[in-house]
Formats: sequence, structure tokens, C-alpha cells
Amino acid sequence: MDLVLNVADYYVLTPYVYPASWPEDGALRQIISLLVLTNLGAVVLYLGLGTISYYFLFDHNLKKHPQFLENQVQREIKHALTSLPWISIPTVALFFTEVRGYSRLYDGVTESSLGWPGIFLSTVSFLFFTDMCIYWIHRFLHHKLIYKLFHKPHHIWKIPTPFASHAFHPVDGFLQGLPYHIYPFLFPLHKVLYLALYIFVNMWTISIHDNDYHVPSALTSIINGSAHHTDHHLFFDFNYGQYFTLWDHLGGSYRHPSALMGKGPHDLIRKLQAEGKLGNDSVQAKGRAHRGIACKEE
Ligand SMILES: [Zn+2]
Ligand SMILES: [Zn+2]
Repeated sequence: MDLVLNVADYYVLTPYVYPASWPEDGALRQIISLLVLTNLGAVVLYLGLGTISYYFLFDHNLKKHPQFLENQVQREIKHALTSLPWISIPTVALFFTEVRGYSRLYDGVTESSLGWPGIFLSTVSFLFFTDMCIYWIHRFLHHKLIYKLFHKPHHIWKIPTPFASHAFHPVDGFLQGLPYHIYPFLFPLHKVLYLALYIFVNMWTISIHDNDYHVPSALTSIINGSAHHTDHHLFFDFNYGQYFTLWDHLGGSYRHPSALMGKGPHDLIRKLQAEGKLGNDSVQAKGRAHRGIACKEE
């Protein structure tokens, strides 16, 4: 994060915002800057990528689904934008310790004894480490003593849109993001790669909520895509993973996506339309009356 902070200091904050008497390495100044940059970055990534995904990938026909809520998109966005500032507070505490040099982030490829292969190994280990951690954190959040406190708000959306991707209770959002922030304190990681992975993680989180199921069929039982995560929202106790299905297979929580077996949300909409039970208006009211899929209510 010090890369971003340095760029912001150099081009904007030092010449135009802070008084010259306030040094760039002042702790309070760094915390304020990190808070602003973290919130700005999160909102730009969330709204920017979410909007692209919503208009170019998300099938708007899904809004006719019986379990699609009234004003759901607005509610998802409002929920996310309310939570992100709270999530940013403990996140900035970690970014601050990172900026102060306590992490294992490094600047140049030559600083790692592994060189370029180290970049590749870091990428693989980052993905597998965070996937494993998120699986167990997510499973823990589903524990009956915890679930209602923190994770339930994310499960309001049974048919999520890309904007549901960041719509979490702040504690839930921070806990599920924690593995990304912990990783550079445990393992060496190139700073630019960390930034790239941070953007990738946001893109992936949005992509598993877009209900676009284009994962090559040979990979559908390996990659935890949108079809898998849609079943997590619908059926609750399955597919807790983030990128891979590895831990769901090991943990006995894997469920092959209903959407890939002709029983997904799109199929239900087509069925209800064919039966004349789903018009173009007052869709939700009609739909609920003809709910045709089983869904575990928590
Ligand atoms: Zn969940
Ligand atoms: Zn989700």
C-alpha cells in the first residue's frame, strides 16, 4: 500500500493538500491518507467493476426470479457503501503497519532469492493460502452461534447481483478480507504483485456474484465460479470456497451447481414463463406465489 501512498503523496497530497510543515512520514498523516485512499480505492473498484459486470455480464432477466428482492440492487449498493468505511478502519491499521515496514513486502524482483519464479510461486501460494483461510472463516461465519450476528446480511440476497459482492456486515467483510492482508506479513511478496492481486481479488469477488456461468466445463468441479456461489446463496451449507472447490471437496461441503444441471435460477424463470406464471410486471409477487425451488431458509 506504500506504493499507492507514495504516488498520492507525490502527485496530490504533498503539493496540494497537506501543509509543507507536515512531513510525509508523519504517523497521523499516513493514517488519514490511508483511510482516504483505502475508501476511495474500495468504492471505485466496487462501483466501477460492479457496474461493468452488472451491465455487461449479469442477465437482467434474473430480476424476474421469485427470490429477487424488491429494490435489491439499490439495497445491495447501500449496504456495501455503508459497510466499506467501517471495514476500512481495521484494514488501515494493517496497511499502516505494512507502510511502517513490518510486512515482508519487497520492491524489486532481484530482492527475492527466487527472482521471477518467486513471483509465480507467490501468486500460487497467495491464491491457495487465501482460498484455504476464507473457506474456514466463511464456514465459521455459518456457525449457528455466529451466523445471525455477522453473516446473515450477505445471505439476504438469494439471487445476487454483482453489487452483492461487497454487501456484508462490516465484521464479516473484514474477516473475509483478513487473509489477503495477513499474507504479506507471513510470506515474502512483491509490492506490485500485491497490488495486482488486491485488484484481482475484488474482480473475482464480483465475478462469483454475477450469475454468469462461463467456466470451461472441464474446470467446473475445480474452480469455484458464479454457479457454485449462487448455490451457496440459495442452499446455504455448500460451496464456501472462493477460487477453488478444493476445500469444499475436502470439507464435505461441495455441491455441483444446480445451474450446470439445468436446475438453476435461469431455468426456473424459463419454466415459470413457459407456464405463464411469470409476467413482466409484478413479477416478484407472482413469482413468490409460484415458488418452484427448494431453498433452505435460515
Ligand atoms: Zn455464506
Ligand atoms: Zn456471496
